Amino acid sequence: MLELRPNCECCDRDLPPNASDARICSYECTFCATCTDNVLHGICPNCGGNLMPRPIRPPEKLVRHPASAKRVLKLEGCHQAV
Ligand SMILES: [Zn+2]
Ligand SMILES: [Zn+2]
Repeated sequence: MLELRPNCECCDRDLPPNASDARICSYECTFCATCTDNVLHGICPNCGGNLMPRPIRPPEKLVRHPASAKRVLKLEGCHQAV
């Protein structure tokens, strides 16, 4: 089950569970669409995998399986993978 992290690891903007612009890699590194497109160019800077749109969990499912509240942020900031 996905953690549904609450923020972008690059710019720390909020990405609620129903955000349509959240992107994740296979390890659930989580980024916003703006960082994914403009900074990361679709590649996760942590693991090198590709970033995909994060599925939206329906609200009734969030009651039983809440989204993660633990914010993850890259302290050194994000850079384009080389
Ligand atoms: Zn971002
Ligand atoms: Zn990753």
